[in-house]
Amino acid sequence: MKNIDLPVSKAARDVVATLQEAGFETYIVGGAIRDILLGREPKDFDIATAATPENVRAVFGRRSCRIIGKRFRLVHVFGGGQLFEVSTFRRAPEKTGAEKRPGAVRGVENDHLIVADNDFGTAKEDAFRRDFTVNALFYDPIKGAIIDHTGMGVADIKSQKVRAIGDPALRFAEDPVRMLRALKLVAQFDFELDNETENALFANLPLLSCAAPSRLSLELEKILLSSYGDRHFEVFHDYGLLKYFLPQLNANWGTPERKRALALLFERNCRVEENVYRNSISLATALLALPFVEKRLTGASGNVYAADQVDADAISRELDRLFAPLTLMIRLKCAAQKILELLPKMVYTSGNGREFMRQHAYCHTREAAIILGIIAGGNGDQLDQRWLKGSENTRDNDRKKPPRKRRPAGGSKR
Ligand code: ATP
Ligand code: MG
Repeated sequence: MKNIDLPVSKAARDVVATLQEAGFETYIVGGAIRDILLGREPKDFDIATAATPENVRAVFGRRSCRIIGKRFRLVHVFGGGQLFEVSTFRRAPEKTGAEKRPGAVRGVENDHLIVADNDFGTAKEDAFRRDFTVNALFYDPIKGAIIDHTGMGVADIKSQKVRAIGDPALRFAEDPVRMLRALKLVAQFDFELDNETENALFANLPLLSCAAPSRLSLELEKILLSSYGDRHFEVFHDYGLLKYFLPQLNANWGTPERKRALALLFERNCRVEENVYRNSISLATALLALPFVEKRLTGASGNVYAADQVDADAISRELDRLFAPLTLMIRLKCAAQKILELLPKMVYTSGNGREFMRQHAYCHTREAAIILGIIAGGNGDQLDQRWLKGSENTRDNDRKKPPRKRRPAGGSKR
């Protein structure tokens, strides 16, 4: 056990302190500790505790928390203007079983798939049911102690290794989404898979077709929101996972549309990282789909289709096709579609940008304007300015920065 003062949010510390004072062993766990040790700012703080969801509700009161989830019951606790996921320590579930779903690859059966995950356990058991050593660190912010139950989490963070906890093949069979999570760590942090984990991943990739599409759709949303989205798709492709995740993007890998899509996404990601624009999932979705929509409407990409070629149905079908077999949330799909419909109108509208913005939903017009700025790149400030001047959501000084150079890519495996 090491004594260390990690920069966790005060609100997270307060939630932990409240539960500990009520007599429940409690820690900050998972991605937040990993991110802090890597010198990154965590996007949220997950908390694990010996308290059951009912205990947690009794401690914080009904007004500050809500029990959610079926497959995995946990409590949302509101504190200090933040939302925390508080989950009870669990042990590896005993109930596993075959699951087939419509659309699953024929012949792919999985007897190890976890169908429920609600057996409560100790802190140590909870660490061992987690996916990777680097995700299984517990931190007690009151004592200033990191607890590394697997004994390898801290070392693996230092040596940038993704190592499954336990038998990697079994862990991937229990939950194939873990393969995607392993490669997210590769994409996001330039980690490498340890040999055994890598071999198990290559051998088990087809099991991903057993994963619930709703969980994969959730992962897709997280990836689109991340400022490493372009890199995620590249790594998924390199490891052969993309064909089980977004088969259309994979099938189009060699095309100019795919290259343009990831280049645009990369440019957007740089600008988000540099705080030029606020992060927006509908913007990222529209940007990824744009070259494919251009191609569908005009037979070529790179033109932001001619004004008379805004066919809303065709755009909708292209969005469905590109993301199948996953389904975008309806709200997300509608927003991305509106942006894609507005783009050519804005390109071909002469006159006052502000007047145009008044006539259309502000949020969609603003995001379409940002996309036009991204397409125009460093020399296209005029387009950018026409639509964005005076918008309180952009920072003019930042916007004048030259476009960033590509991050050094991690070594790909295939
Ligand atoms: P991110 O930065 O994407 O949020 P994360 O590691 O925090 O990364 P979460 O989905 O928030 O990912 O999960 C929180 C923690 O729960 C993980 O760090 C890991 O310990 C555990 N976990 C999540 N998904 C799984 C899984 N499929 N199997 C085992 N453990 C998991
Ligand atoms: Mg997390």
